[in-house]
Amino acid sequence: MNKQTTQNIMVFKPANSIQDLQYFGEFGGVNPSISDSSTYTFLSAKTMFDTFEGNADGCYLYSRHSSPSNLYLGEALAAMEGTETANISASGMGAITSVILQLCSASDHIVSSRTIYGGTYAFLKNFAPRFNIETTFVDITKLDVVEAAITKNTKVLYCESVSNPLLEVADIKGLAAIAKRHDLKLVVDNTFSPLSISPATLGADVVIHSLTKFINGSSDTVGGVVCGTQEFINDLRNVNDGASMLLGSTMDSLRAASVLKNLRTLHIRMQQHSFNAAFLAKKFKDDGLKTVYPGLKSHPSHELFKSMMNKKYGFGGMLTIDVGALEKANELMELMQNRNLGYLAVSLGFYKTLFSAPGSSTSSEIPEDEQKEMGLSNGLIRFSIGLDADIDRTYQLVRVCMKELNILKPKK
Ligand SMILES: *Cc1c(COP(=O)(O)O)cnc(C)c1O
Repeated sequence: MNKQTTQNIMVFKPANSIQDLQYFGEFGGVNPSISDSSTYTFLSAKTMFDTFEGNADGCYLYSRHSSPSNLYLGEALAAMEGTETANISASGMGAITSVILQLCSASDHIVSSRTIYGGTYAFLKNFAPRFNIETTFVDITKLDVVEAAITKNTKVLYCESVSNPLLEVADIKGLAAIAKRHDLKLVVDNTFSPLSISPATLGADVVIHSLTKFINGSSDTVGGVVCGTQEFINDLRNVNDGASMLLGSTMDSLRAASVLKNLRTLHIRMQQHSFNAAFLAKKFKDDGLKTVYPGLKSHPSHELFKSMMNKKYGFGGMLTIDVGALEKANELMELMQNRNLGYLAVSLGFYKTLFSAPGSSTSSEIPEDEQKEMGLSNGLIRFSIGLDADIDRTYQLVRVCMKELNILKPKK
């Protein structure tokens, strides 16, 4: 086989058709060849003109528009999410900002969950108003409140399937019904729950990921993707008015090839992240710690998550505990890092456990009074649970740290 072929088998298996993709490299390699070029030759001048007009399918023009490596990665992610296609960007924020600016013009309005990634919040709250795009932030778990916030100018309903950092769960079917009724686009950031939840199959119009997190999984790059219809992705790439094309947040081909290779083990990693997180969440809760994990029956949206999930990938790798005060949280995180139980770092989806105190880090863009109102307390620690081979041993060692700091009272 010396011809580059891509075969996307269109039968949707819940959230994981990646295994069925068939790629060959230029010389029959088992990995697609990396296109190490920013620009592409044309056999005829007419084809070049047609490509600019968007009429020459399969012709590459310039790597900011698209590149073979980005298309391969995009196809794999579209297969994962069950959308027609996808567009790769250089970061999650590169994906989010171009989607918002593609869907909204001056004087348009967005209804967004109030518990979202700090950067997204800052963009909607502080940056988009420069273009006269206003956002109303709501409690996304209350569908009546969401619907009441819609105005005649609303164009987008925005949320995260599992929110950062409070792990609130969005009722995607319910939100999709509202979006349909009011002719809005439902945009869902699925970064916290890849494979576990497939928003597009539940009615989301656009699904976004920060590839930086679980999907790439090796904390060596930032990256993003927009999954959607062919029509919307074409709009994003349009040379005349496409936000992705014109804002220019394009991933380099070498990196796209690297992310694609990591993506292939995502299903195994997610199972282990979920297994370990579920184990720790249960233990922490039994120890009397204030623990939030969607897999716990005590989680207000446990049943909702269950009704949406692709079971075998579990409830994800993220959990939070509240140790009461920021000083305590800091002490515990430093001690856990000293004992090599994880790293005091933002971000998620790494093989090591990562922990941070969101109130003073990743969500510090959100003013303190608003943090309080949404239940984001000072002593909150967000964990991205790693791929530890013996999670019980990790638990025992974390427990020792907690006892030393009087977070856990010694049991009789
Ligand atoms: C990290 C993150 C982003 C931003 O992605 P970058 O790759 O850092 O630009 C967006 N949404 C969520 C939920 C995230 O965790």
